[in-house]
Parts: sequence; C-alpha cells; structure tokens
Amino acid sequence: MNRIRFCRECNRYTLKKTCPECTKETEINSPQKYSTDETIAYYRRKLKKAGLDKT
Ligand SMILES: [Zn+2]
Repeated sequence: MNRIRFCRECNRYTLKKTCPECTKETEINSPQKYSTDETIAYYRRKLKKAGLDKT
C-alpha cells in the first residue's frame, strides 16, 4: 500500500517518492491527517445515506 507523501516545496500531496512538480524528494505525511480526511469522507457518505433513508 502506498502512503500519501507530501512535498514541502510545493505544499502538495503525492503518492510518489519524488514530487512531480519540482522532482524533490517527498516525505511521508503524517497519516493522521490523511485518515482524518478519510473519516470525514466516510461520515459524509454515511450522513448522506441517512438523509436519503429518511426521505
Ligand atoms: Zn514539489
């Protein structure tokens, strides 16, 4: 599994070991932020589904 990585130069996320923008080596981003985004997406989907179930 690929970890999400982060380029400090461009402030962008990538899955590659080197940044596609500046070709600098990226670093492994804190997985916490990534999983938080995933969690938010998960709950959004859940809420949306719950809303649909109500109507
Ligand atoms: Zn970069």
